[in-house]
Formats: sequence, C-alpha cells, structure tokens
Amino acid sequence: MLPYTLIGSTALSCLSLFHGASPTGAVPPASEVILLECEAFDELGGWVLDQQFMDLMGSPFLLAHGMGVPVADATTRVNVKSPGTYRVWARTRDWVAPWGKSGAPGRYSVLVNGVALETEFGTKGNEWHWHRGDTVELAGEAEVTLHDLTGFEGRCDALLFAQDLEWTPPSEGEPLEALRTELLGLEGAPTDRGDFDLVVVGGGTAGTCAAITAARLGLTVAVIQDRPVLGGNSSSEVRVWPEGHVNQKPFPRLGDVVMEVVPVRKSDSKNAQGAHVFDDDRKLAACRAEPNITLFLESRMNGARHSDGLIESASFENVRTAERSTVRGTFFLDSTGDGSLGFLVGADFEQTDTGHMGASNLWNIQCLCEDEDPLSSQLEAACELATFPRCEWAVDLRDRPFPGREQGKKTPQAGTQPISLGNWFWENGFDRDPIHDMERIRDQNFRAMYGAWDAIKNVEKRYPAHKLGWVAYIAGKRESRRLLGDVVLTGEDLRDNKIFPDGCFPCTWGIDTHHPNTKYSEGHEGDEFIADYTHGEGYVYEGPYWVPYRCLYSRNVGNLFMAGRDISVTHEALGAVRVMKTTGAMGEVVGMAATVAKRHGCSPRQVYEDHLQELFGLVERGAGKDVVARGAKR
Ligand SMILES: Cc1cc2nc3c(=O)[nH]c(=O)nc-3n(C[C@H](O)[C@H](O)[C@H](O)COP(=O)(O)OP(=O)(O)OC[C@H]3O[C@@H](n4cnc5c(N)ncnc54)[C@H](O)[C@@H]3O)c2cc1C
Repeated sequence: MLPYTLIGSTALSCLSLFHGASPTGAVPPASEVILLECEAFDELGGWVLDQQFMDLMGSPFLLAHGMGVPVADATTRVNVKSPGTYRVWARTRDWVAPWGKSGAPGRYSVLVNGVALETEFGTKGNEWHWHRGDTVELAGEAEVTLHDLTGFEGRCDALLFAQDLEWTPPSEGEPLEALRTELLGLEGAPTDRGDFDLVVVGGGTAGTCAAITAARLGLTVAVIQDRPVLGGNSSSEVRVWPEGHVNQKPFPRLGDVVMEVVPVRKSDSKNAQGAHVFDDDRKLAACRAEPNITLFLESRMNGARHSDGLIESASFENVRTAERSTVRGTFFLDSTGDGSLGFLVGADFEQTDTGHMGASNLWNIQCLCEDEDPLSSQLEAACELATFPRCEWAVDLRDRPFPGREQGKKTPQAGTQPISLGNWFWENGFDRDPIHDMERIRDQNFRAMYGAWDAIKNVEKRYPAHKLGWVAYIAGKRESRRLLGDVVLTGEDLRDNKIFPDGCFPCTWGIDTHHPNTKYSEGHEGDEFIADYTHGEGYVYEGPYWVPYRCLYSRNVGNLFMAGRDISVTHEALGAVRVMKTTGAMGEVVGMAATVAKRHGCSPRQVYEDHLQELFGLVERGAGKDVVARGAKR
C-alpha cells in the first residue's frame, strides 16, 4: 500500500504510515507459505480485536486483555495444501520494551494440533516484527491455537508458516503489504458499496447524530465505523459519560437527536461504570431505524480518492476479514476525532505537539462479593481472596503517591469502589505525538493501572477480596488533529463573548484543558499518568456560547464537514467544545447543512454565504423523531 499515489489528476491517499524494511531473501512461492491473520480466527476465545493502531503497524491484531488472568484460547483451522515441514513465525512485540523493562508480560504460546511449540512469543522486540519459532510438520487440516500465558496484554497480529526454513518474512512497509495482499487473495478492486449524499467517517456521538439528522431530512448516508458499536468515547468500550447541555434557547429543538442517542441518565451515570450504563443498543437502534442509513461497522477508513480539492470516495477495510470496500459521496464528514479523512486528502490542520490533552483507559475494580447473593450467604464469608500477580514491569508505584492511595488506608465496603481509581485523570501522553505514539500512550495507561493495583494488592495488601473489574483497552482520546475551517474559534472568543452571525450550536462547558498533575509527577517526568484540569482560565460557563457554523467545514477541501473534537478550534477552545452532547449538536448541524447544500447543489461554505437563514430554519425546527414525522405528514 503506497502512502500517497497519484492516479491521473486524482490522488489516492492511504493511511498506512508504516514504511519500508526490506525482506530477507526472495519470497517463496505462495503455495509454500500459509498466513493466518489472527483477527480472522474462527474463535477469538478471550482475546480481543484491537484495530486502533492498524494505520501505524499495518493490521488489526489480537490482544490478551485478561487483567492478569490468562484469557481463553483463540483457535482456527487451516487446510494445508502442501504437506511438509514448516517454520512458524508470529508477528508480535514485547510491549514493555519501550520502557526497557524485562519480564515480557505479554507472553503466549502457539499450539498446532494441540501440541505447544517450544518458543514463547511476545518476549522480545520493541517494534512489531516476525518472531521466529520452531518447525512443525503439517498435512491435511490443522488446528492452530493462541494460548495466553499471563493475561497481561500479549499481542499477535498474524501467524505465518513457511516451508523455506531459512526465509525471514518482511516485518513492515510495502513488502509486508504485498505479501499479505498475495497470500490473503486481496488483489483486485475494492467492493463498490455505492453512492451516498453524505459519507460519515467515525461513529462517535458526533458522527451518529449527523447521520441520523441527515437521513431524517432525506439524504442517503453511509456510516463507516471501526468498532462493532457506536458512540466512541460514550460507548461501553470507553465508558465516558456524555456531558454538556442541548435544547437551549433560541434553538430549543437542537439536541433532540442527541437526546435520542445518548444513554438515559440514572443514578449510576458516571464514568467507568457497568457496560449497561452506556447503552450501546440505544445508539445502534436509533441508526438502524433510519432506512436512509447504511451502516458499515467494524470498518476502518484508510483510503480516499480526491481531485481538485474535492473528495470523491473513501475506502475502508473490514477489521475481521480484511475485505476492502469503497463508497462515493457528494459530501463527507470527518468525525474520526483524529481528523483522519481530512489529513488523507490534504485538509489544513493544526496539532499541538507538546502540552496537549492526553488519553485515558478508564478502569474499575470489583469485589468478588458482588457475585454472591447477600440474602442467602454471609457476605464476609462469601468473599474469597482475589490474588493478583506482582508486576515488576509496570510503573513502580510501591512507594509513590497516586489518587486513591491516600484515602486508601482502609478497604472499601463490599460492592463499592473508590472513584479515584481508574477515573478520567488517569491520563498520559501530554507531550507525545497523539497519532504516532498512540500504542505507547495506551500501554503506559496499562502500566500505570497495573502498577497501582500491584501496590494496593501486593505491597499494601489491601482490598483482599477485590479484583480489577473492567479496563478499557480502547483508549479514550481527547486531542489530536484539529481541521481548520473559515473560522478557528479561540479561547479569547469565548472570554470576549464574541458574537458570530452564524453561531448555531451551544457550547456549555468551561475551558477545561488538561496537564500533568504535579502532585504525582515526580519520578515520572515525560511519562506522567495523572492529570489536572484548568478551571476556566478567565471563562467560566454561565450560559450557552453559540459557536459559528464556519468551524464545521474545511477551509480548503470543498465538500468536507467536521464534527467532534477535530473541528476548527484552538487547543484552548477545544477544552470547552469537546463534551459529547455538544459534539452531538455539531453533528445535527452538519446533517442539516448537508441537506441545505444538497438542495442547492452548493458547497458547505456557500451554505454560510448564501443560505444561512435556511440552515437556521432547520436548526430551529430540529430533527427529533417526532418533529420530522409531523413535518413529513404536512
Ligand atoms: C477519559 C475521558 C474523559 C472525558 N470526560 C468527558 C465527560 O465527562 N463528558 C463528556 O461529554 N466528554 C468527556 N470527554 C471528551 C469526549 O469524550 C470527547 O471530546 C469526544 O468523545 C469527542 O467526540 P468525537 O466524536 O470527536 O470522537 P470519539 O468519541 O472518539 O468518536 C470517534 C469514533 O470514530 C471512530 N474512528 C476513528 N477513526 C476511524 C477510522 N479511520 N475509520 C472508522 N472509524 C474511525 C472511533 O473508533 C470512534 O468510535 C472525555 C474524554 C476522555 C478521553
């Protein structure tokens, strides 16, 4: 896959950012090599599919996310066409190598027809590479198994079996891509999935609300979302509670779609609570109820075709099957958070390289007593001891402070959990590249969490009956690229209460940016993992601030909208607009603006220049289910 290929006057850009090592030796005939992509295994067992870094390392992979308990085996069956002796390779890495830690927590073995190879994988290498294993005899049908040995985040992208016992497969870049394409039979054009009025890339709250709004107003919409669920950070996979206010005067109907999509607030509506709190089914049902929406789940957008400053199509890869597809569109919405579509097609953007907000992997703990029926058993007696292995490779917090430790000289009541463990401020990556360093940033969150739990369980020997209950392996990201529109909203605009003629969605949050919390930084410089936040910086939310429509489209790509955290704002203003009911309201406005643009055959910019009152008309009316249904009858 080329990172940037010119085809006639049309540019085809791909998100693959990993480049070029050369293969060792000539590539053997395809009949003598078997490539098994782990994400395509018949049974994933307890392994989870991680697609977050595929633009960097080339593929989705399987992760043994067991929170210290080895996960159930992943298995698949393979038909061996050419019987003989094969060398086994696993594409993997030792995930704590970036910190120079020994112990290789991500160890696993590979079984062929129930027999474990001697090699333990995941034990070496900072970078993704092919780890050389033993040889096996293969004939007929074989069963291949990934067997986790630790429960501590082992990772395997693919297994490869080669009859040339001395050949080393290429680890990265175009040679690996070419090998994969040939061995998986991926040659040929992507499947054409049709033409749409609006192509939404990224199904967080912003993208989901945009899609539903546009569909209700009559547009045909494609949604490309790389996870099996919608909602992004507000999904059960990340578990951030959506904040902000919608349904505000003078546009009290803006936000009706948001409120249909976000989970209903209850007493336990807080970060990192149980999956049910985040109600993934509600978002999926709202989308599926719209006949105009075609939903492509588990589909990662990683290519786009564009010419003369306009996007023609976006292409995407199914994260389990690797099947490639393409959709054409009149308008496109980048709601990926990372501005990935805009980046691909050359949209102007800004990124704060150091001193930006970081990413979190929320977590919680659970008392084993919760599994017991308190009416039929004595709770104390029912609690068994929950042991947890030592984690020498984690952040060493044996004698360091962290939130939750200072309150924690006593063990919480059965069934309760201290909110200071695993909440939003467990965050890192402030000075690292929020795109290229993301696997490391996610992994540092793991190391901090495992280090804290190790200190509590094994050093202080508290919480004897508690275990890690849930840990997000999908990182909650706060800040990366911000695509630039005709207006770039600043912190000063908020402080001065600058009024824009196209103010159309309410910002209802203070300037809430994050930085390392110095109380916990000592000894972790450059890898701080606890955040503090700004409390307003001269702007405290007292009533809605109306953000201009011109922040929601690209200034140099003619048919590209933005909604979510990648809109046209500065780092500081992002601190105020980034909460999810607000991002959902942006999505609604984009759905409406795309409708106006379609009606007039004009650009997003011309909606501002020539049809702003028409857009305001739609914003005033809203796109809630009932309003649109009543409108249709008239
Ligand atoms: C720990 C944490 C705590 C926070 N606290 C709060 C809070 O209390 N309340 C609040 O409202 N906000 C909070 N925020 C901020 C808020 O969650 C984000 O600003 C918001 O989620 C941004 O919305 P988005 O739609 O742009 O991105 P996301 O929510 O990240 O959604 C983007 C979606 O696009 C998908 N995607 C990305 N790239 C691709 C691709 N190439 N192809 C296909 N799909 C793709 C992603 O998987 C994701 O599902 C918090 C954020 C974090 C991380």
